[in-house]
Amino acid sequence: MATGSLSLKKYRRITVKIGSALLVDRSAGLKREWLASLADDIASLVADGADVLVVSSGAIALGRTILGLGKRILKLEESQAAAAVGQIALAGAWSEELARCKLKSGQILVTLGDTEERRRYLNVRATISTLIKMNAVPVINENDTVATSEIRYGDNDRLAARVATMMGADLLVLLSDIDGLYTAPPARDPGAKFIPVVDRITPEIEAMAGAAASELSRGGMRTKLDAGKIATAAGTAMIITAGTRLNPLSAIERGERATFFRPGIQPVKGYKTWIAGQLDPAGRLTVDTGAIGALLSGKSLLPAGVKLVSGNFSRGDTVAILSPEGREIARGLVAYDATDAVRIAGLKSAEIPGVLGYQARSAMVHRDDLVMSHAIETAIPEQAEG
Ligand code: GLU
Repeated sequence: MATGSLSLKKYRRITVKIGSALLVDRSAGLKREWLASLADDIASLVADGADVLVVSSGAIALGRTILGLGKRILKLEESQAAAAVGQIALAGAWSEELARCKLKSGQILVTLGDTEERRRYLNVRATISTLIKMNAVPVINENDTVATSEIRYGDNDRLAARVATMMGADLLVLLSDIDGLYTAPPARDPGAKFIPVVDRITPEIEAMAGAAASELSRGGMRTKLDAGKIATAAGTAMIITAGTRLNPLSAIERGERATFFRPGIQPVKGYKTWIAGQLDPAGRLTVDTGAIGALLSGKSLLPAGVKLVSGNFSRGDTVAILSPEGREIARGLVAYDATDAVRIAGLKSAEIPGVLGYQARSAMVHRDDLVMSHAIETAIPEQAEG
């Protein structure tokens, strides 16, 4: 597919993520004219019947400018203070620009727990849905004023993917300071080739990402591909394009360069979307090839197939399920605490009550609580043909 044929018109619910470097200039502050042009684009998508959700970065960068903190590295409490100052100005600017386009808006600040804990996830989802029903554009950011490094996303790429899949968006657009994916970071490798379409995020694709793209953006290509994995697994298409020009969304329609990531062919839904998108599994279970076969045919993971248990998890936590080579093949909610999981790994079901001293669940990860990785799902038809 040529990138010139990309159209946003067919999408019904679009999440747009805006990187800090697009919105904030270190000396001039908020780029108001640019924001106004983006608000115009959002208004035209809404006029065409789409729901638009905004994930806007820029709080820390804007606060830093307003407070005159210069370029120096900030201590945690200083960046939290900068976020507090920047966020209020950022939200004000969004509200004003969307209002100028006759759109209402509402600010939502989330912390990691709001998407990683099931009950809080459902709560945030209900609030965002209600805003959409009331025709207000949700403007979302991480609550940087309270999030500390251990419990934060740190990058809005993955936050945006989590929001997009939580809200059932069919498209996620990452507006960045780079116009798409290249075979290598173009700043370092002038021979790097642009990739217009990614069918599936394979390890080869992941190897193309370098480190962070600019000093203002925390994410870089790596977190964008992580976002792509979360999004496409849930059936959400993703576009990465440069937001540096005015009207960056209509620029995609006009055929400006952008990389399109196709949505997965067997998307996970509902409860499983939440499991699949978990950012940081608490542990890892390495399984044998027999267990992989069982998982592929839709069965639960039994203790007998588990070769190695690592991590300090509690029952109900998310664990990654790894192949003997260490590749993640599935993710699920584990039925045992790590200490018990270690004791029963490799045992047959009948042996387990004797070891644990109680009648336990037969599955280590029940199939209802288990999601195969996108990579393996899409590999099934290929294997069947071969
Ligand atoms: N939440 C951060 C901010 O608004 C930005 C995170 C990112 O750059 O992805 O300043």
